[in-house]
Amino acid sequence: MFRCSWCMKKFKNGKPIYGLNVKFVEGKKIIDPEGRIIHIHLESRNTSVPMIVPGEGSEADKQGVDGIFPICSEKCGDKMRDALHKEIGTIQTVNKMTNL
Ligand SMILES: [Zn+2]
Repeated sequence: MFRCSWCMKKFKNGKPIYGLNVKFVEGKKIIDPEGRIIHIHLESRNTSVPMIVPGEGSEADKQGVDGIFPICSEKCGDKMRDALHKEIGTIQTVNKMTNL
């Protein structure tokens, strides 16, 4: 169920999972009290990809993280970052990748 948001491969046990943190443009933020995984449509790729919505009031939410794209490798992270920079209608800023 839980896949890399770029290459769509399932994460393997024991391999690191990265997260690409983004901030949404004003009014586009998805608010979920519990936090959950949703699918978000990317215009530039014409497909929907998984994204984690941090729970309201969670540590990520407090730090201004509106969404976290799960990523399997740094290579996928770089490609995802380029794609997200084109999503100017939805994504305001793409922050650095962290370990999930
Ligand atoms: Zn990947």
